[in-house]
Amino acid sequence: MPIHFNDLDVVSAAAGLKSALIVPCNMCPAVTVAVREKKPFMQLLKSFLKSAPFDEYIRTLQSRLKEKGVKTKVFKSNLYHQWFMCMWTSRRQKKLREYAKQYEAVIVFGCESATETVLDAVKSTDCKVIEGMKTTGIMNAKLRFHLPCNISFEDCRTIPISR
Ligand code: SF4
Repeated sequence: MPIHFNDLDVVSAAAGLKSALIVPCNMCPAVTVAVREKKPFMQLLKSFLKSAPFDEYIRTLQSRLKEKGVKTKVFKSNLYHQWFMCMWTSRRQKKLREYAKQYEAVIVFGCESATETVLDAVKSTDCKVIEGMKTTGIMNAKLRFHLPCNISFEDCRTIPISR
């Protein structure tokens, strides 16, 4: 089910900026990163509300942007129902708009629908919207549960959206 992505060159796209708010969709992009790194998507006993590989991916990006003079903050979605940016409430979009006003750009990690959610939220601001990933298809994978409490995706293939 999750959408599969390739990375885009966010550091180049953010060149010249001083600040950016990173807005990640915690579902499909997190699955993409976990599968690519052959790591569990979730380790429920270790980190109940986050996918460690994606968390690390975002932190590495923040360090790379910092080296280029771009200060960043992550707009965190800690509750499960906030993970899916394609289904955000208007209250959540309003909150993003309030946060985004303090930054020159929003860097969004997610599909076209996630980007649409962000564009909608920030349309009344001066924020530039930068996409962090590009959709390549839909994943076909086997969901596996491992002890102690890990969730992984195995035998993954990327199926093009229109054949
Ligand atoms: S917004 Fe896009 S990337 Fe995020 S959960 Fe929905 S379909 Fe997946």
